Amino acid sequence: MSDRKRVCIIGAGPCGMAALRNFSQSALDVRPEVVCYEKQNTWGGLWNFTWLTGTDEYGEPCHGGQYKHLWSNGPKECLEFPDYTFDDHFRCPIPSFPPRAVLREYLEGRWTNGDDDLRKYIKFNTVVRNVVYNDASQNFTVVSTDLKAGVSSTEVFSHVIVAVGIFNVPNKPHFDGIDTFEGRIMHSHDFRDAKEFKGQRVLVVGASYSAEDLAMQCLKFGAKSAICTWRTKPMGFKWPKGIEERPLLLRLDSNTAYFKDGSSAKVDAILLCTGYRYAFPFLEDRLRLQSGLTMYPDDLYKATLWLRSGGGRLFYMGLQDQYFSYTMFETEAIWTCRYIMGTIPGEPKSQAEMRADAENWVARRKELKGPHDDIDFQADFIADLSAAVGYKPEAKKVADMFHKWEHDKDADIVSYRDQSFQSVFTGTVAPTLKSTWWRAFDDSKEAFVKNSE
Ligand code: FAD
Ligand code: NAP
Repeated sequence: MSDRKRVCIIGAGPCGMAALRNFSQSALDVRPEVVCYEKQNTWGGLWNFTWLTGTDEYGEPCHGGQYKHLWSNGPKECLEFPDYTFDDHFRCPIPSFPPRAVLREYLEGRWTNGDDDLRKYIKFNTVVRNVVYNDASQNFTVVSTDLKAGVSSTEVFSHVIVAVGIFNVPNKPHFDGIDTFEGRIMHSHDFRDAKEFKGQRVLVVGASYSAEDLAMQCLKFGAKSAICTWRTKPMGFKWPKGIEERPLLLRLDSNTAYFKDGSSAKVDAILLCTGYRYAFPFLEDRLRLQSGLTMYPDDLYKATLWLRSGGGRLFYMGLQDQYFSYTMFETEAIWTCRYIMGTIPGEPKSQAEMRADAENWVARRKELKGPHDDIDFQADFIADLSAAVGYKPEAKKVADMFHKWEHDKDADIVSYRDQSFQSVFTGTVAPTLKSTWWRAFDDSKEAFVKNSE
């Protein structure tokens, strides 16, 4: 192997693409050779809508879990790139909570905006099957399979960036009697269209974003009612008529659900909105992060560099529970790429210094008391990382918008997507929707842009 660094990026979702784009824009004398493996036939990660569920056409686990009629659940002003704003892309102001396709177009616009064609670095339809770190040669052996050709190959890399996402392997808890249930049972990962539940009484298990949005979607598209059942804490929103919350589901007997408070209800369908498991089946055990969803996983310097093995050459991206998304990924990408290229002043630090830094963040994480603390914590993390590389995502100003957004949701869960936010980069105040989110049934970009005033 030559002295030139060779970087393997696994995944061409928003994280992997941010890393790829940063490498492609770096100076030629430090730029490594980069290969990105993507098991889907295009880039975009979760933002690629697919009707497929379960396994894909090659028998691989289907990655995507987004659905028709999904709109951003956070203001777009909280995920706006400073150097590629919404005004830059759309050339006119658009409302703050875009539908899925509009955000995907924004991402793609960024990836196709430069002179370099990023597609040439990506091996599409190619799944990474195995990654092993070789201690003696301090490099990685990566085995991948070209799914179309059915052919596997082995390559050696000096560094590996794992960017496969954290919301694609569904967590499916068991409830007594669930096998006796007569209606449809699905995990939110398989949910594609709320119209399927028109006229039905839906039981939603879980108390987080998917539970909230699926209950609302179902009602919006004609479900008769939704009961959301919580384990740790109810969501506590002022729900529209038709949605209620109850303590945890204990068991099912045919179509009757029994809850922890002794109550019961007849339901027609069950939506398990019970989150996801972190899964990195292609990594050898010592490289594999062991964690559940958290604001800062253990054993990672700057939440990216794996400290337990891999010779300081294995990186993860986008692992944290996400308030900030695109700009956090971008910050991690800039930091990771520059770290690998050796252009961050003061890096690399000693193992002891990196450990102490990571433990400090984990100790802070353990003190977090709720969403507002989480938002400030994530803003501090991004501010810390971006300061090290001179990037300016204005994380603290964006955090103020997230705090307002949380208050908007508490005030009225039906209308929070009708609110307008102001870009911290352009000063543009988003127009409002002519018809509200609740009444908007056409999610196309054209309808969305026309729907603003
Ligand atoms: P992903 O988008 O999951 O991309 C990972 C990529 O890795 C995929 O393309 C996958 O095919 C590929 N891959 C996986 N394994 C392999 C392998 N072994 N070999 C090769 N390739 C592989 N965020 C927001 O900011 N706003 C929203 O409104 C929003 N809505 C969401 C709705 C849902 C239902 C979900 C589940 C998440 C939502 N998110 C939202 C969060 C989402 O996680 C991020 O926006 C973003 O997609 C994360 O990017 P990523 O690159 O880390 O992962
Ligand atoms: P999540 O945030 O991890 O929430 C999982 C929920 O499942 C939690 O409420 C958890 O309860 C519950 N749960 C887990 N195991 C359970 C069990 N055995 N019994 C009962 N409840 C159980 O996952 P998510 O809600 O799917 O969100 C994932 C991501 O998707 C987020 O980033 C979110 O923003 C995104 N998303 C976006 C939209 C959108 O509108 N754009 C819609 C959906 C999702 P505990 O609190 O008790 O652990």
